[in-house]
Amino acid sequence: MNRLPIYGLVILPLLGVIAAIYLAVTGNVSATDVILCLSLALLTEYGVTFGYHRLVVHKSAEPNPVLKAIILALGSMAFQGPVIHWASVHTKHHAHSDHEGDPHSPTVSGFLYAHFEWLIEMNSDELGQIIDKWGGRYQKDPMINWFSKTFLFWSAFSLILPAAIGFAVGGWPAAGTGFIWGALVRIFLTSHVTWSVNSVCHYMGKRTYRTTDKSRNNPIIGIFALGEGWHNNHHAFPSSAFHGLTPWQLDFTGFTIKVYEKLGLVKNVVRIPESLLEKRRIDSSRGEDLNVQELSMTEGGEPELQLTPVEEAA
Ligand SMILES: [Zn+2]
Ligand SMILES: [Zn+2]
Repeated sequence: MNRLPIYGLVILPLLGVIAAIYLAVTGNVSATDVILCLSLALLTEYGVTFGYHRLVVHKSAEPNPVLKAIILALGSMAFQGPVIHWASVHTKHHAHSDHEGDPHSPTVSGFLYAHFEWLIEMNSDELGQIIDKWGGRYQKDPMINWFSKTFLFWSAFSLILPAAIGFAVGGWPAAGTGFIWGALVRIFLTSHVTWSVNSVCHYMGKRTYRTTDKSRNNPIIGIFALGEGWHNNHHAFPSSAFHGLTPWQLDFTGFTIKVYEKLGLVKNVVRIPESLLEKRRIDSSRGEDLNVQELSMTEGGEPELQLTPVEEAA
């Protein structure tokens, strides 16, 4: 059992949230605290969604090296592990999605296991095996390797930064509240948002495209996870730079990729042709519609209703 995630990702951030609520109800919260929390949450989560996920794992676009370095630095500040670890585990998730071997499937292992218990249960030997098997292609990239090796520096920097900004604004008391909001509360929020993509988005929401897993499009996670909640779209078309595939499917990360493309900061942006989207679309008139499945959970966190696999198009 790996105790570091229990303290670093679950207990300490939760204590931070409790302290922050106490500070808020006693009127001891400043605009600096809230700005630090929200801006660092947005930036570091974006480092994961755009950097770790769409650029590194799925090669959805080819970034300018300076942009790539900035994004990988932000992702490394998100407390979600070194980029090579994250990318290797995520690659295994795509390879085994919702089947035996998926590191975090709510339908195979239970909702809470997929949400965060897998992080606690995974020991370093198991992680090493995953990196050996799935991490080779990431280790070949010198910049990805460097950010992976300097992960602890970026993590420490992300804790010190909000405290230092707080100190500059209001001395030691503001350094303390800056740390609570900009480090602990921020880590709590971003961790649960990313974990929800693994748990909620394989459990609740609408399926639009045929996949061999149970991935779903969840609009709420879509907004909070900066576009990553359109997870059925993502599993159907993993390399697509855009997870939101209709104008109303808000995809903040995808929107920024379009802006970078216009500015010449990314090239070879992967777009899925309309014909392929059409081909993979679930046809409700053929009884294929698995939309809005009502799943209730048993005590073990297992779904009571097992979904029938989506039949492939003839
Ligand atoms: Zn998934
Ligand atoms: Zn992915």
